[in-house]
Amino acid sequence: MSTSAAAAYSRILVKLSGEALMGAGDYGIDPAVLKRIAGEIRDIAQMGVNVAAVIGGGNIFRGAGLARAGMDRVTADQMGMLATVMNALAMQDSLESLGLQSRVMSAIRINQVCEDYIRRRAVRHLEKGRVVIFAGGTGNPFFTTDTAAALRAIEINADVLLKATMVDGIYSDDPLHNPKAVRYPRLTFDKVLADKLNVMDATAIVMCRDNRLPLRVFNLNRTGDLTRIARGEDVGTVVTFE
Ligand code: UDP
Repeated sequence: MSTSAAAAYSRILVKLSGEALMGAGDYGIDPAVLKRIAGEIRDIAQMGVNVAAVIGGGNIFRGAGLARAGMDRVTADQMGMLATVMNALAMQDSLESLGLQSRVMSAIRINQVCEDYIRRRAVRHLEKGRVVIFAGGTGNPFFTTDTAAALRAIEINADVLLKATMVDGIYSDDPLHNPKAVRYPRLTFDKVLADKLNVMDATAIVMCRDNRLPLRVFNLNRTGDLTRIARGEDVGTVVTFE
């Protein structure tokens, strides 16, 4: 096991979208993808970094989509939040199968399957080297798990919020559709907001900006990038206050 001397951060929070767990499928969880991500998380935890994660639910339910189909928005968002709990349990299982201790803490009370979110307890788990997975988003409808990630990262004093995406960082346009799109190596939160760059919702960006929480956007499909970031390498796009 390597030592913490190799790590550039002492505490990080990784935001994984539900879609990241889907792999090539169009619904649910791909066990092989889950295992690969868990392996990367194990590698950085073994560097001595405290690792927290927020997982989305878009691979199962998204409130806005259900509402468009006619469902009451609050009910739809509650279904979305429950979906994140399922994803979090799957990730916990995968981490534990690799020998890593992990706790799921939910913003909505569902304490026969996981712990309730209590900030001091979360920090204690992290100090003990357990990977803490925050489920249930913020616990409120009309929010996203990106905002939950910003909120929890600030609450636990994470050094950085790492947002996993399917591309190599933040681009001037969608690189999957526009071949002329260019990748920014670094940006400010104000530029992200002014140019309406598609990174996270504005609420999440503003929370990071106002609390001086650096954000790094990276490609989850590039195996090893998470470890490189943990070592301090300049991977993806970094967004800072100035
Ligand atoms: N959600 C919510 N409040 C929150 C976080 C999430 O109501 O604080 C609901 C919302 O319906 C959302 C769904 O949970 O669509 C899944 O989260 P999200 O869309 O952020 O997941 P991701 O896109 O990261 O997979």
